[in-house]
Amino acid sequence: MKEQIFLLIKLQNADSEIEGIKSRKRDLPEQKEALADKLKIFEDAVEEGTKRLDDSNKTHRERESHLKNGTENVKKTKSKLLEVKTNKEYEATLKEIDSINMKNSQIEDEIIYILDDIENTRKNLKIKESELADYRTIYDRKTEKIETELNSIDSVLDKMMKKYDKIREKVNLSLLKKYDILKERRNGYAVAPVWKEVCEGCHMNIPPQMYNELQKPEKLILCPNCNRIIYWESREISDEQEDI
Ligand SMILES: [Zn+2]
Repeated sequence: MKEQIFLLIKLQNADSEIEGIKSRKRDLPEQKEALADKLKIFEDAVEEGTKRLDDSNKTHRERESHLKNGTENVKKTKSKLLEVKTNKEYEATLKEIDSINMKNSQIEDEIIYILDDIENTRKNLKIKESELADYRTIYDRKTEKIETELNSIDSVLDKMMKKYDKIREKVNLSLLKKYDILKERRNGYAVAPVWKEVCEGCHMNIPPQMYNELQKPEKLILCPNCNRIIYWESREISDEQEDI
């Protein structure tokens, strides 16, 4: 029986390990997706900043071109002054020049504002670009790690399954049936260690007499609370290690 209980413990460990690998296999693609989503946020910020800078540059070019036209317009209108024949025409042309000058001055103000905006947008974009570069390094490293794990996970799982099958072959059929039923009913956790009279499966105390029996594994003992197959597992060494 001692040997059989030992095999059941090994079977449970293999089962838990398989579950762990399967859950990693499910989680890893999600983790990869979350990393890509975050990268997209940084990329979008850079794209938005670039677009804003392009727009501002375009507006700047437009305003400069308007100003150039305006300046030429003043020159042209001033030359008209030489050709006017009446006072009225003269006054009207002066007014026209004033009006163009006013418009030009407005455009100049706008250009100052736009140049300031371009400067700020450029600074902001630089920060966003550096944030993206930093995150991309993290993204590349983490994604590569996930890819490597995903590439080997099937073979790791396969190996573990084979090990699991080999252990199963050695367990008595009646015990195996008990194990399988318990595993199904107890969320994949059929065999639980007990230390200091506490069952790790349900975290409840077991009677002291039973605890004594458990330390000399001669028969199969079930936890009176959760019905799991229980075994005594000394945690003495790990307790001491924790103290250090
Ligand atoms: Zn229990």
